Amino acid sequence: MKKKVILILFIVSLVISSFVAYENLFISNFNSHFDSLFRISVWALTIFLLVYYLKLDGNPQLAPSSISTEKNLEENTKDKNNSNVSFDDVAGLDEIKEELHEIIDFINNSEKYKKMGAKIPKGILFYGPPGTGKTLLAKAVAGETNSFFLYSCGSEFVEKYVGVGAKRIRTLYEKAKKNAPSIIFIDELDAIGCKRNLDSNNEKDQTLNQLLVEMDGFNDNNNIVVIGATNRLDLLDEALLRPGRFDRHIFVGNPNLKAREEIFKVHIRNKPIDSSVKIKELSKKTHGFSGAQLANIANEAAILAVRNNKDKIDILDFNSAIERVVAGLEIKHPSVLEKEKKVVAIHESGHAIVGKILSVDMIQKISIIPRGQALGYVLKFPDEERYLHTRNELVNKIKVLLGGRAAEQVIFNEITTGAKDDLVKATEIADKMVCDYGMSLLGNIAIKDKYKYYNIGKIEKEIKKIIDSSYEETVNIIKENIKLLHEISSYLLEHETMDSEELENICFNIKENIFTTVT
Ligand code: ATP
Repeated sequence: MKKKVILILFIVSLVISSFVAYENLFISNFNSHFDSLFRISVWALTIFLLVYYLKLDGNPQLAPSSISTEKNLEENTKDKNNSNVSFDDVAGLDEIKEELHEIIDFINNSEKYKKMGAKIPKGILFYGPPGTGKTLLAKAVAGETNSFFLYSCGSEFVEKYVGVGAKRIRTLYEKAKKNAPSIIFIDELDAIGCKRNLDSNNEKDQTLNQLLVEMDGFNDNNNIVVIGATNRLDLLDEALLRPGRFDRHIFVGNPNLKAREEIFKVHIRNKPIDSSVKIKELSKKTHGFSGAQLANIANEAAILAVRNNKDKIDILDFNSAIERVVAGLEIKHPSVLEKEKKVVAIHESGHAIVGKILSVDMIQKISIIPRGQALGYVLKFPDEERYLHTRNELVNKIKVLLGGRAAEQVIFNEITTGAKDDLVKATEIADKMVCDYGMSLLGNIAIKDKYKYYNIGKIEKEIKKIIDSSYEETVNIIKENIKLLHEISSYLLEHETMDSEELENICFNIKENIFTTVT
């Protein structure tokens, strides 16, 4: 607005001075003292307005940008000041909740600790994969202590204007101090806290420095706890992690079987559930899922039940919801050619047979109905929770992934692009075997990124060896079970999906095929 007024004044002034100059040159020969003074004033005013306008224009965004972003920060934190989340809403993270009880007691009974000369831990760092409940835990700490909850995200502090990020950190702390006891939650901490020698962005450095200063500075009576969250602990600057700052590091990982059961229970609490739904079974089928995915499944199942005009959410809704989360949205009218359908049926049957023969995971469903980007898929889950894998098990996983391509090769003597994702996943496992687990001829070594660069040829050779030998064995498994392959693919072409029971029946009927290859 101000800029517009100055611009209009400048244009008016420019018109008057041009008129005055024109008169001076062509019309009159003003000599009077008054006229000269008038001309000089008009020109001076024009030049002043021009300079003032350019000054405003040269630094156009800094002031408004910082004002508006402060406003954003206010808005972002507005609704989240009083957390109504409690530990009852956080399922399955018992060890972490126990660890946090001390912090909660510190805030709730600070006098007890002060008497002993103990200081409140200033920073807690949650790290781990996305959707595992890091934000939820921070909100629960605020809820349990009736603290003021300030949510912020690391990327909100990243600006190209020097000083803006640091100012926002100061504002955040001022607000926390004013409303203490407070919990400041900084999500995506790595956006501002990454190692300074890796990223020499001056603005980021200033923001991080300001955060360190604030963490050191606030006094022990303030009752402010900062909780940071990141998916990449390895990226964070050492200074952030030293004692007195984020010195408590808590890993929040994907839930195990029991935790998944508890998370499901929390998310079906207020939903009408049919007796066909067995939470234990659902938890088994969702191995490797994050808490956020489980919450999503419960919600999707409820939506499906409403769509199908049901009174209660039944197991079919849950199964469809799992499929939707794992494989994406079902494509209602796919335009897959008949001959492509046959390739997909053979490909998926290949995965299923190798999985079944090598006993890798429990197959829940095979489908050739396109979902998301996949033309078909095999839904499977491990029959038991595992934390360690042998070399042989990893090789078997690679073989299952290569089963689709091997089946195409054996049946059509031709391969298609359908194995793209399988190849990526198989190569990833082989890469980890060589570089992380010391499971190749390169020996019992973990190869860090900086050494990978110089040894890329050797590494590729080892990865290729693992993949090639696995592929060869997979082709053999397919060849030895070709009858089973045809049975499964024919069933799929006719019915489009096959469940675990049907697969068992077909395998039982061609039992001799299975016995030929079980090792
Ligand atoms: P990101 O790293 O992507 O920020 P996050 O670890 O902070 O993710 P949250 O935002 O806390 O994950 O979790 C997302 C949602 O998932 C929660 O709102 C909640 O509904 C559900 N959820 C995750 N973990 C749990 C849990 N342990 N108990 C109950 N619900 C959970």
